[in-house]
Amino acid sequence: MKDVSQKDMENNLPLSTKKSKQSAKPKIISGVEFGGENFTVIAGPCTVESEEQIVEIAGKVKNSGAKMLRGGAFKPLSFPYRSDSFFELGIEGLKYLNTARKHHNIPVVTELMDLKYIDDVCDNADMIQIGSRNMQNFSLLEEVGKTGFPVLLKRHFGCSLRDWLGAAEYLLYYGSKDIVLCERGITAPHTHLETSRFIVDLQVVPAAKEISELPIIVDPSHSTFRRSFVPSIALASCAVGADGIIIDVHPEPEKAAVDPLNALTYKNFDILMNKIDKIKPLI
Ligand code: PEP
Ligand code: MN
Repeated sequence: MKDVSQKDMENNLPLSTKKSKQSAKPKIISGVEFGGENFTVIAGPCTVESEEQIVEIAGKVKNSGAKMLRGGAFKPLSFPYRSDSFFELGIEGLKYLNTARKHHNIPVVTELMDLKYIDDVCDNADMIQIGSRNMQNFSLLEEVGKTGFPVLLKRHFGCSLRDWLGAAEYLLYYGSKDIVLCERGITAPHTHLETSRFIVDLQVVPAAKEISELPIIVDPSHSTFRRSFVPSIALASCAVGADGIIIDVHPEPEKAAVDPLNALTYKNFDILMNKIDKIKPLI
């Protein structure tokens, strides 16, 4: 493989490309398995909007078969302006996530962007999301690694598999034990068409699996950025051998405070989950 050489695997990526009986086992994060025979679905809103809403969403997605709840309390938003209809709740949002996880007994993954909130995130969630934009924030990776807390490591949209595994290597080197990789779309200048904000690199799934035993899931919501494309890419992720998906779901997607273009309704999420159940045994 051109991108990751044998020498790289020995010198730069010994931990993330290690293959052993132990590394081949599914990762178990708060009772949820990633890897092995599982196709694990994480679902929830882009951003936590209210306590009542996140508790409702947690119940709905769990009923449809999601094993983990997602929801951002801290959002990497492109512009600094906020309004009543476009916002993030910060620490308040973390508390609501905690309420939802206790109410429905469902583990939570949420993004950490700033080291000053690391304890708050660990206290209120089960897994730290490193967002695409922070994939190479090495001081953040170092501190997150030191906590030993499970990590969902999103791929930066401009990074190769080698860079991505390098970020996983940082986490492992500093102390992480359970890492799940997440492909969330990459950019190339000629892909900036109306129909593709990012290109979903499904090929990276078998490529990663050839050299690493870290579980790998796909985010069809943030990669396609278009609700009508989400189910197809979710099913393709299952077909290509991914270990799961992470999906934006909202009671009224067009009114979502962040990312109204990509969230699925409860109904469409449920339809997707039924389709996944049908194709999963065939893969
Ligand atoms: C998200 O999952 O809410 C998110 C912002 O993702 P990404 O880092 O992939 O853009
Ligand atoms: Mn989003």
